[in-house]
Amino acid sequence: MTRTVYVNGEYLPENEAKVSIFDRGFLFADGVYEVTSVLGGKLIDFAGHAKRLERSLNELEMANPISTEDLLEVHRQLVDRNGITDGLIYLQITRGAPDDRDFAFPPADTAPTIVLFTQNKPGLADAPQAKTGMKIISVEDLRWGRRDIKTVQLLYPSLGKMAAKKAGCDDAWMVEDGFVTEGTSNNAYIVTKDGTIVTRQLSNDILHGITRAAVLRFAREAQMKVEERPFTIEEAQNAAEAFVTSASAFVMPVVEIDGAPVGTGKVGDIAPRIREIYLEEMRKAAI
Ligand code: PMP
Repeated sequence: MTRTVYVNGEYLPENEAKVSIFDRGFLFADGVYEVTSVLGGKLIDFAGHAKRLERSLNELEMANPISTEDLLEVHRQLVDRNGITDGLIYLQITRGAPDDRDFAFPPADTAPTIVLFTQNKPGLADAPQAKTGMKIISVEDLRWGRRDIKTVQLLYPSLGKMAAKKAGCDDAWMVEDGFVTEGTSNNAYIVTKDGTIVTRQLSNDILHGITRAAVLRFAREAQMKVEERPFTIEEAQNAAEAFVTSASAFVMPVVEIDGAPVGTGKVGDIAPRIREIYLEEMRKAAI
């Protein structure tokens, strides 16, 4: 099926959509992105993603080519035109395409590039992995120091994902100075033996996950104990449970880390419960 995508104000068939070879996203990874999930034809936490997009753009002094209201309309149009029931909407904004390559930013009047496309994922919320759990390897975190900005510099996370696959695992957790920062494309959590949910505190070291914010809010509302602090791979291997969160995987249990089982080595009680609460509440609030 040919998708309808959005490029710089136009809806086009995917094979007619074009971006310049001088685009700063292509040449310098000078761009930011967001991924919003769609369940039952509705957007999950659009407001959270729009707010983080605004923050990423501000941190990089990049112009925003579109209002939040118009962005919502583009998301809805793409869901509609592509008949998406369950899936993802990918959004990318770059510093645009000046007429040559130069490390210095282009003139302020250079139009940013904005691209959105859909990914059809029927049954997105019913991934079998939620029942079996993920296997994780650890890798050193070699990314830059502003991981709070959602840039398209995803080469290192991509290498981490491939290292995990080569090891027969599903994903990698990145470790810096002995402590887990986050997963290649998700935030990382453990559940201690006394039932406390532990995840690294917000800083420039990790992406401020939109799913993370919602999950911590729901956990606290459900009277679960939450601690925002760093943890090691060893602590995770000795924890009762572990899990990750992201806009596309929601809440996904982790059952093995660097070859060692987490808890019983099977999916526990707490991660599935949080997943259920998250999906129920977010479906209710979807727009
Ligand atoms: N950390 C990283 C490095 C990520 O790439 C992502 C997903 N893009 C997340 C965390 C999860 O963020 P969110 O819940 O907003 O999808």
